Amino acid sequence: MRGSAVAQDAADGALKEIPLQSLSDHSLTPLGQAAMSIHPTDWKHAETANFVYHYFHGFIAAPVSVEAEFYYRVISKDLEKDTTQWERKSHIFIFETNEDWKEFQKKGALDPWTGGIHSQGSLFIQRNPELKFKGSTLGHEITHLVIERFFGSGVPLWLNEGYAEYSASRCYAAFNRARGYGARPISHPVPNDLYIPVALLISMLTYPQDVAQVGAFYNESERLVRFLERADKHGFGVFLDAMSRGNRFETALNKGFAAKFISLDALDREFKTYATQQNGFSNAD
Ligand SMILES: [Zn+2]
Repeated sequence: MRGSAVAQDAADGALKEIPLQSLSDHSLTPLGQAAMSIHPTDWKHAETANFVYHYFHGFIAAPVSVEAEFYYRVISKDLEKDTTQWERKSHIFIFETNEDWKEFQKKGALDPWTGGIHSQGSLFIQRNPELKFKGSTLGHEITHLVIERFFGSGVPLWLNEGYAEYSASRCYAAFNRARGYGARPISHPVPNDLYIPVALLISMLTYPQDVAQVGAFYNESERLVRFLERADKHGFGVFLDAMSRGNRFETALNKGFAAKFISLDALDREFKTYATQQNGFSNAD
């Protein structure tokens, strides 16, 4: 009952402000404490079924809470996971002004391409009330948060970014469709000359040095996630779970997809066509 009542509050676009000490989970990471050292007396606090929010204005935080719970539901269904019985919640800190955000950035390690900071299961973002269209960036960041909650911090870079892109584009389209806007997921093909062989993609521990390659890295990672989910949706969840536990790619592939891909080379040949063609997905997605 409590969960659905909280969800209803979020659906109504209202967040009930409560004192920090009254949150069901008020333990803060060192970076969370650092965030709250900026304007320490101005922070407000609230929570929904799966997230805790720290913010300055309710009208900024309420839409974030609606999106966060929406993403949680879509991703948990997609990956057949459920942590609603957990007592520990994921924390989202919402900054507003550039000035405050810059001050905070100095304290954290930035994910340079998306504009959010993740640390120990908490998410730190800036929501500028003057920007009307916010795109799928929030969804990308929230997906990382939900993945960390379901699978811990051992998910490899390509898989983490690929799933975040995949989920953000799907969820963003679904979120807008549910509100009466026409929207389809966006997935970009990888230019032939920027294609990264799968064996190399899955071994990358950091983002490419070359900026032109960064976009290709995200697109190709997204396409590989999409490709594997289409091959076998349940199998993809098994694969992701195995990868998060430190399995080698081929081992996880075998667990999730059995004999579907006989070797990494065979997968690479089949995937390259899918990654580089314009219509990498159909209306069924
Ligand atoms: Zn990311």
